[in-house]
Amino acid sequence: MGRPIEITGRPAWMTRFTDNTRLAGDYREGRVLLAGDAAHVHSPFGGQGLNLGLQDAANLGWKLAATLAGRAPGGLIDTYAAERRPVAARVLHNTRAQIALMNPVPERTPLYELFAELMDLDQVNRFLAEMISGVGVHYGAGRTLTGHFVPDLTLEGPGRVRDLFAAGRPVLLDLTDDPAVRKTAAGWAGRLDVVTGSPAGTPGPLLVRPDGYVAWAGERNLEEALTEWFGPPYGGAGK
Ligand SMILES: Cc1cc2nc3c(=O)[nH]c(=O)nc-3n(C[C@H](O)[C@H](O)[C@H](O)COP(=O)(O)OP(=O)(O)OC[C@H]3O[C@@H](n4cnc5c(N)ncnc54)[C@H](O)[C@@H]3O)c2cc1C
Repeated sequence: MGRPIEITGRPAWMTRFTDNTRLAGDYREGRVLLAGDAAHVHSPFGGQGLNLGLQDAANLGWKLAATLAGRAPGGLIDTYAAERRPVAARVLHNTRAQIALMNPVPERTPLYELFAELMDLDQVNRFLAEMISGVGVHYGAGRTLTGHFVPDLTLEGPGRVRDLFAAGRPVLLDLTDDPAVRKTAAGWAGRLDVVTGSPAGTPGPLLVRPDGYVAWAGERNLEEALTEWFGPPYGGAGK
């Protein structure tokens, strides 16, 4: 700040940025919802801001659409802030850590060296890569795949899982070709895509939200999970 900078040549683009770090106290005030940099700002280290904002939008979009269409289960819209704000807080935390590590303070040299040594370990590398890329993001996950991003399986017939979400609907991956699963899913026909496939060595049926996160991996009743995330079945209460 306040130092002259010599610029030789003609710059094609000029901007300024700082390590300004802020997180909105709440992502929702009535009908106003915050996403992207409006909800969180941080230093650009690690190139995480755009990804974070896009994931906000992916999380919010289908919940907002269901709410506006009058078919959202109670409280669905509030899961947006509940899920996404902690993710942003974590990014603010790791970008602050990067600033601390980049500050050349001679007394901290042993700490920098120790961190560099740790980064030689595969497990540490994986942890940091998953954190910076956002691949490690999960929502209240337990021991099953629920709350995690769906693995990009290749299914015999339907192909890559990642290509199944273009319609913006939830997807039930009926990997066991189970008639009971199909019968339950029929109650949500038109709101849910059911895909049958049988890749080798993959988990049982998975209910995946339109943003790609697993809502159910067989740990409880499927009807309960469908109702919790996508409202009651046709013919059920609140039709
Ligand atoms: C130097 C730098 C490098 C970065 N590098 C990366 C990177 O490598 N990877 C990464 O993922 N992220 C990176 N980021 C972060 C990323 O750029 C932002 O997180 C992202 O652009 C935020 O998108 P956004 O749509 O939320 O907000 P913005 O991009 O700020 O978009 C908001 C838009 O709203 C408009 N607007 C504002 N007020 C009004 C109004 N009243 N009416 C109408 N329009 C309005 C603005 O003009 C702007 O176009 C970087 C940021 C900086 C500063």
